[in-house]
Amino acid sequence: MKNIYGLTYVQLESYLLELGEKKSKAPFIYQGLYKQQIDSLLDIPAIRQSLLKQLEEDFSMTLPRLVEQTEGDDTTKFLFSLEDGSLIEAVLMRQKYGNSLCISSQVGCNMACAFCQSGRFKKVRNLLPEELTGQIIYIQKQLHLTISNIVLMGIGEPFDNYDNVMQFLEIISHPHGLALGPRHVTVSTCGLVPQIEQYASHPAHGLLAISLHAPDDETRSRLMPVNRRYPVAQLMDAARSCILKAGKKIMLEYVMLQEINDHPWQAQLLADLIGCDAFHVNLIPYNETQNLGFTQSSRERILEFYDVLKKNHITVTMRREFGSSVNAACGQLRADYEKQQKQ
Ligand code: SF4
Repeated sequence: MKNIYGLTYVQLESYLLELGEKKSKAPFIYQGLYKQQIDSLLDIPAIRQSLLKQLEEDFSMTLPRLVEQTEGDDTTKFLFSLEDGSLIEAVLMRQKYGNSLCISSQVGCNMACAFCQSGRFKKVRNLLPEELTGQIIYIQKQLHLTISNIVLMGIGEPFDNYDNVMQFLEIISHPHGLALGPRHVTVSTCGLVPQIEQYASHPAHGLLAISLHAPDDETRSRLMPVNRRYPVAQLMDAARSCILKAGKKIMLEYVMLQEINDHPWQAQLLADLIGCDAFHVNLIPYNETQNLGFTQSSRERILEFYDVLKKNHITVTMRREFGSSVNAACGQLRADYEKQQKQ
């Protein structure tokens, strides 16, 4: 049975037409699912019962099942189990400008970034569109809140699950549904160049963040194996062409690792690489996880790095260390949970 949260608006219209119904019923169904957030398909208002019964026969409304919820000061972390028992994570961040949700896009991840706990779990499978949408719906319903921003920065590489992620963006951006438009969704990639090029031309694309983490190939290849396939120069060319096509700034994520990527010469190289104001650099204090062998850069080193970028007129911010009290580094909650289960 198909899950209704994986259906785009256009697919819902086609389904109705196949039943011999009018597609003008689609807005009521989408609004019931995403605005009223009904618990049963039989509760959708303004649709006759026989059609609702048909919907109920044809579709499930299964959401991810909560396994563990951990509260921090301004973050809540959720560990979910999917229908096949796979574990994924999502992190809710309460910010001044609204609630942001960071969601997972895959079960595990094949990108093997050296500083990331999730990179230790090989990819098992891609998340389906309904499993992406389900993370949002579950949290909105359970916590009675509205999520205003989505970030695909949890477990997995979203562009390694390109088609499902784009279908998900189409679902959540529809005005009769969650209406999370392009300015409210950020897809974060470790640097898959062909998909970056595709993304800029896709009608449902949102904002783009690139996990850069080093401006030189030697350091970046050590931290992120993907750099051996798509080196820095090629990645930055793709990013520039994406800016030209989509006309939106790109966020360059830069996790600060003591004595690895936080040297002033690397800040200068990064500034030279950027060379224009269409990028925004976000410096992130490393969230230290167990046994990965990296240390968070000292505050002095982060400030020195920041100053070099500022002197070169680069737009740069320092991210507050979100969620260290709730194991918010991606993959960390899952790792801790699985360890407990084995004891
Ligand atoms: S940082 Fe992202 S892309 Fe890299 S291993 Fe972790 S989840 Fe995968």
